[in-house]
Amino acid sequence: MHAVLLFIRLRALLFAECRHHPVAFCETCRRGYTPEELGTDVGNGCYLCRQCGTDLRASVTAHARTCPNLTPTKPLVRMVGRPASQQSVRRSYRPSA
Ligand SMILES: [Zn+2]
Ligand SMILES: [Zn+2]
Repeated sequence: MHAVLLFIRLRALLFAECRHHPVAFCETCRRGYTPEELGTDVGNGCYLCRQCGTDLRASVTAHARTCPNLTPTKPLVRMVGRPASQQSVRRSYRPSA
């Protein structure tokens, strides 16, 4: 049960960060799945290959470990990349005449 909850949280993360590239790969069918292709029906075989029914959870978990979109450094990059708010604060400051 706990493992299922973890997987649901992981899928939510993949939907946000990995929308546009495959996050699972079926070795049998030689095809990849994006989060949308895996489907949104949590608990209803959403991690199974649509063609052969292979369990793709191991593949999804492996992607989560290696995908650069999911590295812990990304939130820092987002913070550094927003200097606009600092500039607006500085512009509102006026020295008293
Ligand atoms: Zn990814
Ligand atoms: Zn397959």
